[in-house]
Amino acid sequence: MSHMTQNGHGLIQRRKTRQIVLGDDRVGYVKVGGDAPISVQTMTSGYTHDVEACVREIQKLAAAGADVVRVAVPEKKDTAALREILPRVTVPIVADVHFHFQRALEAIEAGVHKIRLNPGNIQDRAQVRDVIQACKSRKLPIRIGVNEGSIIERRDKQLRMKELGRYFSDNKFGHLLAICITKLEEYLDVFHEEDFQDIAISCKSIDPAFVIAAYTEISKRFDYPLHLGVTHAGPKETGTIRSVVPLGHLLLSGIGDTIRISYANDPVYEVEDGLELLYCLGLRERKGAELIACPTCGRIQVDLFTLTQQVRLKLKEEIRLPIKVAVMGCIVNGPGEAEGADVAIFAGDRRGIIYVQGEKVANVPEEQILERLLEECKSFQSKVERGEAKLGEKKVDIIPPDPIGELGSGYAKIESEKRGVGLPQLDGRSKR
Ligand code: SF4
Repeated sequence: MSHMTQNGHGLIQRRKTRQIVLGDDRVGYVKVGGDAPISVQTMTSGYTHDVEACVREIQKLAAAGADVVRVAVPEKKDTAALREILPRVTVPIVADVHFHFQRALEAIEAGVHKIRLNPGNIQDRAQVRDVIQACKSRKLPIRIGVNEGSIIERRDKQLRMKELGRYFSDNKFGHLLAICITKLEEYLDVFHEEDFQDIAISCKSIDPAFVIAAYTEISKRFDYPLHLGVTHAGPKETGTIRSVVPLGHLLLSGIGDTIRISYANDPVYEVEDGLELLYCLGLRERKGAELIACPTCGRIQVDLFTLTQQVRLKLKEEIRLPIKVAVMGCIVNGPGEAEGADVAIFAGDRRGIIYVQGEKVANVPEEQILERLLEECKSFQSKVERGEAKLGEKKVDIIPPDPIGELGSGYAKIESEKRGVGLPQLDGRSKR
């Protein structure tokens, strides 16, 4: 079930899945599965019935790069609000439905682009059929999110559980996996009986190892597109590792068609981190600047942490192209590590030297670094857009600056430390 779609690094063979499409002529269409790029989803954190705030949040998430945004519709006033929200947003919207199948029907009626059903709390076959039929008539996909709650009973459930239990007997999560697969099969039966295939599947957990095991098993059994996620991952500070480890593992194994990272924080971070994960794995073409920066050390003589944050925010606002920007604390490792950067700044004694594609363009005091660096990034962006420069094309080797003259005592300090063991050249090799 694998096909030859590879990532930008040529390292990942994505598993072939069916494709679903969500959207409309106005917001555009997002394909999920098959050979479509892996999409990034998130969910609003505010009330859907607060129309103005909801529209604002959706548009903020869309601007951050979300391909799809999900909203909660716990009450009738939320599905009613969708009628006002949908015409004002620019991304496909998914209605997240729990407990009340009527909310799904109302959301579909309002024009939503996809429904998420929870098999754990919408179990009645007739109700599920109603939702399937309503989606079918409007060509809307449905995501089935499996969890540990009970779902539709079927006569051979216990038998199937036993079979799967034996199959998973050597797996730490065997019992839980058997439950999830059984429930998924049961739920899918209803969809198959209705001849409905516009399905995506998710099987989230807070346990990263279980997430890996579950999606790996599901991907062997079904060819529906998979929506990856770690649920309730916690605050961003720790949730990033909890999410990125299993999602990265699965994506590197070719599993996953759309992802949602979930944090107890502003969902903009979920979008940014989801995109960055895909960029790092070469699974999406980068939009906007790529920022690299040194961690700083005892050689630092500017406030690089503040500068890096300021540069990050400015680049997000001003740069559309995937310009590689390096913010380096000094010239010890900086030039080697910044090699390939289109625009780079090497800091010294409260100063910074700025290079554009290897060519030195400025030497400015610390308080002017941000402004000048941004100016150079913007001007480089315009040159690329006019066809006068190419991204990633290093025209001139970075020549070590006359450090004492240009960067001040920083380089002098380094030089004296290095004397006798060799001075680093700006291509990262040591001069011996
Ligand atoms: S670039 Fe310079 S300041 Fe930054 S970590 Fe490397 S040696 Fe330290």
